[in-house]
Amino acid sequence: MEKSAALACRRQLASVDFVRSTWIVAFAEVAEVISKPSSRDVTGGFDWMNAAHSNQVSPTAATTATIPMINGRRDRPLRPYRASRSAVGLVGDDSVNGGPGGRSWGWAGLGGPLCLVSGDLRLLHVHAHPDDESSKGAASTARYVAEGVEVLVATCTGGERGSILNPKMDRPEVLENISEIRRQEMDAAREILGIRQEWLGWVDSGFPEGDPLPPLPEGCFAARKVEDAAAPLVKLIREFRPQVVTTYDENGGYPHPDHVMCHQITVAAFEAAGDKDAYPELGEPWQPLKLYYHHTFHYERMKALHDGMIARGLESPYADRLKDWKPDPENERRITTRVECAQYFGIRDKALLAHATQIDPDGAWFAVPLEVHQEAWPTEDYELARSLVESEQPEDDLFAGLR
Ligand SMILES: [Zn+2]
Repeated sequence: MEKSAALACRRQLASVDFVRSTWIVAFAEVAEVISKPSSRDVTGGFDWMNAAHSNQVSPTAATTATIPMINGRRDRPLRPYRASRSAVGLVGDDSVNGGPGGRSWGWAGLGGPLCLVSGDLRLLHVHAHPDDESSKGAASTARYVAEGVEVLVATCTGGERGSILNPKMDRPEVLENISEIRRQEMDAAREILGIRQEWLGWVDSGFPEGDPLPPLPEGCFAARKVEDAAAPLVKLIREFRPQVVTTYDENGGYPHPDHVMCHQITVAAFEAAGDKDAYPELGEPWQPLKLYYHHTFHYERMKALHDGMIARGLESPYADRLKDWKPDPENERRITTRVECAQYFGIRDKALLAHATQIDPDGAWFAVPLEVHQEAWPTEDYELARSLVESEQPEDDLFAGLR
C-alpha cells in the first residue's frame, strides 16, 4: 500500500473511532495481576524440562490457581486487549510506531483485519532462564526462523541458582563455574535455533523450598519491583520492535518465582513499550500487537505422548505422573493457537541438549522417540492473551491477522 493510501486508511479509521468501540479495557485486570504476590500454583502442568527445578515439582503439588487471570474467567471468550492511549494513537498519531514495517501499515477496511503491507515480522520470546527458550516453544521458533521471521529471545536471568539436572554434569568444577557454563550453553542453543538472544541482566532467584518458604535472596530477579525489572525489557522491545511477544501465563507455567516474575514484567512491558509517557528515556514508543502465553506441559499433550508410547508397546515415562494428574479442561480451553512444527522437533531437541547441565539425555524427555512426539502431538500450543488485531480462532500461526 502506498503511504498516502495508508494514511487515508488511518484517517478513515480514526474518524469512526473504531478502536474505542471494539477494544475492551483490560488494564485494570493487568494492574491487579501485577500487584498480586506469586502463587505456588501450577496450571495442571509441571516443568519436565525446566531448568532449574523440574524434578522438584510434582503434579500432586498443584493447587487451584489463586492469581486472577488477566483475561478473566477461562470459560469466557477472549477479550481483545484495548491498547493504551498511545497505542490507540497508533492509528492516527504518527508519533507512535507499531505494526509490521513501522508506519507502513494500515487496515484492510473498516472492521477488517489489520493487513500487513510491508516490513519484516519479528517475534520476541521472554524467558526466565537460559534453557527455557529450548524447552518451551523451540520448535515453533525454528519454524519461524526458517520462514524468515526474526526471532529474539530475552533471557531475564543468568540461571545462576539452577540445579544441575544431568547427573553426568554434576561435578564440582561444573558447579563452581555454573554461571559461565550456562552462558556457553545458551550460546550453543542460540546458534542451533538461529536466533538472537539478549540477557536482561537479573540474577536467578532460585526455587524456594520449605515450610514456611524461605525469603527470596536479596537482590534477585523475583524480589525486584515489577516496574524496575520491566525497564530493560521495555528498552529491548523499543529497539527490536516485535509485532508478537510470548511469555508464561500468570502462574509462570510452573511455580518458580522467576517464571511468575517473567510473566509480570512482560505484561507490564507489553503495556508500557507503546506508551510515550512511560519510560521516556528508554527509546521511541513501540506497541507490540499480540501477546501469547506458552502452554507446553499440559495434560492433553502428556496423555497423547503416553498413549503413543503404549500403542507402540513402549514403556511410557509418564505413567506415574499421569496417575495423579487429572484432565484439566479449563486449562485446555485457554489454548487458542496451535502451531504445527513437528518437522522442527529435531532442532528443538538439539537446542535442549545444548543445555547440558539442565537436561538428562537419559531422562523422560528423550525416552520418547522423536517419531512419537511428531505423531502424538505435532504442535506447540499458545494462548492469545492480548491482541490489538483481529484473527480467527482457533489460530495456527502466532502472526495470524498480521499477514
Ligand atoms: Zn526456567
